Order: sequence, then C-alpha cells, then structure tokens
Amino acid sequence: MEFKVSELEREPEEFDLVLAAGTIDCGEEAEQKAPLKVEGRAEVIHEHRGPDEVVADIRLRGHYKGLFEAPCARCVEPVEVPVDGEFDLIFRPENVDAQSGERAISAPDTEIGYYEKDSLLLEDVLREQVLLSLPTRVLCKPDCKGLCPSCGVNRNSQTCTCEEGPKDPRWEALAGLRSQIKL
Ligand SMILES: [Zn+2]
Ligand SMILES: [Zn+2]
Repeated sequence: MEFKVSELEREPEEFDLVLAAGTIDCGEEAEQKAPLKVEGRAEVIHEHRGPDEVVADIRLRGHYKGLFEAPCARCVEPVEVPVDGEFDLIFRPENVDAQSGERAISAPDTEIGYYEKDSLLLEDVLREQVLLSLPTRVLCKPDCKGLCPSCGVNRNSQTCTCEEGPKDPRWEALAGLRSQIKL
C-alpha cells in the first residue's frame, strides 16, 4: 500500500489490511509465514521551520500482528517468531535535513524516517518494524546444541563421530570437571 503525500494532504487515510504470507520480504533474516494484520492511520503533518519553510511530514501510526520464521542462531533450523507491535513514526521528505542541517522536531514518542519523492510504502515500513522487533539472537530452544563445526550435522537430532571439542588443555580440564560433577 502506497501513501501519497498529495492524497494525504486532502484527507488522512485509515487502513485495515491483511497482507498475504510472503508480502513482507525480510531477506534471509526472516520469512513471513502467515497473513500479517495491520491497521492504522496515515496523515500529513506540516512542520513549520521558518516563516516561508513548511515541510510536509507523513505521520504513520498503527498496529501489526503476524507470524514470521527466522533461522536459529546455532542450528539454522527455522524458528517461529510471532510479531505483534505498535508504531508511531514520522517520515520527512528525503534530503530536507541534508539541506537545512539537523533540526530535530520535538516529538518524543515518535521516530523519524524519510520518504522518497512523494510517497511512502507501507510494506517498507513494516519490513523495518518487523526486523527491529526480532530478537537479536533467535534460538530454537535455549539449550540448542547447534551444528557440529567439523561435519555440520545438527547435534539436536544426530550424533556424529567427529572428535569432541578442541585439544586445548584448559578445555580438557574443564571436561574433566564436568564428568566429576555428573558422578
Ligand atoms: Zn537451534
Ligand atoms: Zn561432526
């Protein structure tokens, strides 16, 4: 969905959409596995920067809810990641700050982004919001054993005959300790 500044100038736009699975492309970081529900409101806010300078910002507020899949940080198996978030964002025309220097508006509850030419794509905004909301380290389970560094098997489901651990004596001492603890 595209928001055009010229149309939003006439009247704000309310939206309530369901974006089919796969619409939001997060590259290798995540895959949209289920329809994403998103509802909210887009409007133009005029930022008065001087007697003659008025900047048309787009304010986009809303809520989204859906299901993504991201690879486990250790074993790379896909892990379901439910997403459910709110956003309240301000988008300025591209280059406006480059020309007039950094002049922050006082909007503590909003974040500032930029729109290109004269419109903003909802899908682009959602992609960024989803990526920001993903945990920095997705794990399939807290004690995921990961992949064997030698042969690459998934140690959660398979065992391999590769040599266990590095030959560093400090590690061997630690392994000895661990076997004592088990006894
Ligand atoms: Zn894992
Ligand atoms: Zn192995």
